[in-house]
Amino acid sequence: MIDCGEGTQTQMRKYKIGFSKINQIFISHLHGDHIFGLIGLVSTLALLGRKNDLHIYSHSDLRNFLTDQIKFLYRDEMTFKIIFHPLNFAKEQQIYEDSKVKVYSFPLTHRIATCGFRFEEKPALPNLIPQKILEYQIPIRERQRIKEGGDFMTEDGQIIPNAELTINRNHPRSFAFCSDTRFDESYIESIRKVDLLYHEATFAANNQELATTTYHSTGRDAAQVALNADVGKLIIGHFSARYKDHTIILNEAKSVFPNTEAINEGQVFPVKGKNQ
Ligand SMILES: [Zn+2]
Ligand SMILES: [Zn+2]
Repeated sequence: MIDCGEGTQTQMRKYKIGFSKINQIFISHLHGDHIFGLIGLVSTLALLGRKNDLHIYSHSDLRNFLTDQIKFLYRDEMTFKIIFHPLNFAKEQQIYEDSKVKVYSFPLTHRIATCGFRFEEKPALPNLIPQKILEYQIPIRERQRIKEGGDFMTEDGQIIPNAELTINRNHPRSFAFCSDTRFDESYIESIRKVDLLYHEATFAANNQELATTTYHSTGRDAAQVALNADVGKLIIGHFSARYKDHTIILNEAKSVFPNTEAINEGQVFPVKGKNQ
């Protein structure tokens, strides 16, 4: 989960997202609209009898803020542990890795210390080419080793190079999240060529000055970031409540970066790789 605003639990119930699926929470910064849902979510997990550790990646100040509330509510009766991982707001760093994905944090430009996050799918092992398995009679016990990069030796001692036997699968996919931030070239390299970029677009272009002084972006800013970073697709959100209809922000963004969509509640955006 990335950020946890006040309505998070309600939305999870509405869209049937299992609470037990949440094991890592990445918090971009400590403004209320990004953290007010945390204590409610933590309480629900405790009510459900959660046992597994919950990992939270955030500014180190969150630890005291949250543990004070937990102590007040539960004393020492919490059913699970929360492991806090402090973010680095000076430079990009890898903060998480499992068998499928790596997650990086990188500094954004907002009123307080803020990080964006980049999720990189790990490359899948290549597939063996079925005709080659037949041609060289490759036994099952050899196949995993070849997928991992090994060559194959036939019974009469001929070495078949790995490149002839395998075919790479699709390019690994990537997603980046940038909220909240002012337009800034400094984080472009951290999101270069991601397949899908979520970027905040709080204001329309006629409020550019307000965007700059409050350290937020306009739709055009978000689109310029997408263009400069050469991303595959841009989705924008975090619209100011002053806009009853965010079409103006979307159209301004599209005039700079056409492959842009505005988020709507509950909408799912697949992360598509280059050739998908
Ligand atoms: Zn903020
Ligand atoms: Zn915000």
